[in-house]
Amino acid sequence: MITRREFLAASSASLIVSAVGSRTEQGSDRPWYETMRRCGQLNLNEQDPKTLDVASWIDYWASLKLDALLLNGGGIVAFYPTDVPYHHRSEFLGSRDLFGELAAATKARGMRLVARMDCNYAYEDALKAHPEWFERNADGKPRPHGESPWLFKTCMFSSYFTEQMPAIYREIGARYPVDGFFTNGWPSTGDLTVCHCENCQRVYREQVGATPPDRVDATNGYYRRYYNVYMDRVLDVWRRWQAVVTEKRPDAVYVGNLGGGIRTVKNVKRLGEVARWFNADHQGRAGDTVIWDCAQQGRVAQSVMDGRAITNVTGAYSNSRPTWRHVSKAPAETIMWMAQTAASGMVPWFHWLGGAPEDTRWKAVGRDFFAWLAANESHFRNRRSVADVAVLYPQRTIAFYRSGTKPGNWRGAERAQTAEYLHGLYYALLEGRIFFDFVHEDNLRAETLSRYRALLIPNAAYLSDDHCQRIRAYVAGGGSLLATFETSRYDEWGDDRFDFELGDVFDATSGDVAAPTGNSYMRIESRHPALAGFEETALLPGPEQRVAVRARGGDPASATLTPLTVVPSYPAFPPEMVFPRTLRTDQPAALFRQVGRSRVAYFPGDIDRTFWRSGNPDLGLLMQNTVRWLRGENRPPVSLEGDGIVEAFAWETEPGYALHILNYTNPNMTRGFVRKFYAIGPQNAELRVATGRRIRDVRALRASRAVPFTQDGDVVRFDVPGVTDYEVVALT
Ligand SMILES: [Zn+2]
Repeated sequence: MITRREFLAASSASLIVSAVGSRTEQGSDRPWYETMRRCGQLNLNEQDPKTLDVASWIDYWASLKLDALLLNGGGIVAFYPTDVPYHHRSEFLGSRDLFGELAAATKARGMRLVARMDCNYAYEDALKAHPEWFERNADGKPRPHGESPWLFKTCMFSSYFTEQMPAIYREIGARYPVDGFFTNGWPSTGDLTVCHCENCQRVYREQVGATPPDRVDATNGYYRRYYNVYMDRVLDVWRRWQAVVTEKRPDAVYVGNLGGGIRTVKNVKRLGEVARWFNADHQGRAGDTVIWDCAQQGRVAQSVMDGRAITNVTGAYSNSRPTWRHVSKAPAETIMWMAQTAASGMVPWFHWLGGAPEDTRWKAVGRDFFAWLAANESHFRNRRSVADVAVLYPQRTIAFYRSGTKPGNWRGAERAQTAEYLHGLYYALLEGRIFFDFVHEDNLRAETLSRYRALLIPNAAYLSDDHCQRIRAYVAGGGSLLATFETSRYDEWGDDRFDFELGDVFDATSGDVAAPTGNSYMRIESRHPALAGFEETALLPGPEQRVAVRARGGDPASATLTPLTVVPSYPAFPPEMVFPRTLRTDQPAALFRQVGRSRVAYFPGDIDRTFWRSGNPDLGLLMQNTVRWLRGENRPPVSLEGDGIVEAFAWETEPGYALHILNYTNPNMTRGFVRKFYAIGPQNAELRVATGRRIRDVRALRASRAVPFTQDGDVVRFDVPGVTDYEVVALT
């Protein structure tokens, strides 16, 4: 818990830090992976040792000007003559030491080498010799791989992770000049697995109390305990492996496999604390996943890494549904994925499978993009985001949330629904051209929040007392707040508080959650800046779900305004029946209040989710207007105006500033793959630079041309020329 006084003290301390620049250091005192900008990976298969042409592959990767190359060491299959028992040598290795050849060639070209490992499966001979290494079903049977059933799933709680994998790391580290180790598929950010091996049964008995449910169910006390035990084990293994790989090489690194975009279950904040390097294995999209899924991944990773190393993998192959591992992804889609990676401050990692490709179309796509990145490298060295609006990343709500109307346990499909609140707010911010960062709910430190003028909370229903106290302190210290629907109604595990923990901040008391209804409305009772553009209507579309609330009126210092009230749902069919039974209620649909510098907007309805589901732009405009009102008289530090749907990032960089614009204006924006770009016209930009900073040059790096600009005090204005796929405007 923090008091307001501590908050203010921390705020002023952080202002001093940012004034002198907290991340100016570069080079020798930072580990190599903190300064890398380009990664590549050739993912070998068991047959590759028969034919792999090392020289031509290393030529290709060197042409991408990589800082680091990932190549298969071992785990499931060893690509070198291993002496570790039950470490399966490639059947086709013969007398070759393929990893050794690749390692020597990689280092000869000045690239860092990361051994790509897999700790998740092993062969039957290992199963026979070490049955305790493997996961078991409830009937005691091992778990074969779904597509390659001669491999069996290893158990994270077994000594496979604490003895066998370290033995392999040590062998590779002793023989080859390896700068790091990466494990495919582990730990991931997805669901926990429940295993019935003897080790796990003991864990359940001694640490959990009983076998936990095998699905996400935060209502279950055993699940809650298992979640913590499971996270503790992941972090323990991660730390052990980091210690093993640095035994001989202090600058070596272990990197696990994370990702999952916004739909994570494992606590990414805790993972971020142990990770020296966060790799997002978020290689592409499938089905109706939106194009900005990659930039969103970047924001999640940034919300826990605070500027430390983050990579994101781009699959050069077609990782759609179905997946094709051996043909290229549409080039335009690949470019947009890498562009989002770079724009959101992550390092692109370009990935191909198999050493003998029959489709080589992907090669030029990666080479051209990486060559451009390399030519402009300094402008991708970010110090900090320029955005002054934060969006709370409500991880526990997305992972665990179930409102009273939703029965049963769920997995993926339902979790996609718990992310809809954030999706709706996110899209409103993109349409409104509002620059923002994610802040993880477990990272609500005063020094983090003090950078932001406003904090936006898309239905963080599950928040701990500590989360709420930090949010309360932020508002008390002058920060503005937007929150929706059931925010803070439950504790961090979903136990109902029957009222908002943040009710004093919202000035609202919670009643029941109404079942989802259509054809309800919000009535405009009085004019307010958040209602700009709605002068010709008395009604706005009502959210599908809402909490019945009443204003508490508890704070004499600030009158709460309720310019919108609820018009309850009435039949939408047949037309003869379509008339309101209750024209007007005194139930607030929005509560706005102002205390000093702080402005608070609370919407009892799920305007974010309803916006996402319905696409009705009134709800988007309402959120955009509200964010502008939250800002008060403060001008945003960066703005961008023009036609098109874009996502933009602004960074303070080592040489100056960079404005990144991703052009999503495309018929394949919400269903892949992008096959062609549709250029947008000039974009009018304004960026506030540090006081006293004189900008001498503004340059569009994709268009490769100078951009005319004016500087008036600390405000720099310029027109970005049209954007085809992606533009980065560098100010120096
Ligand atoms: Zn087990």
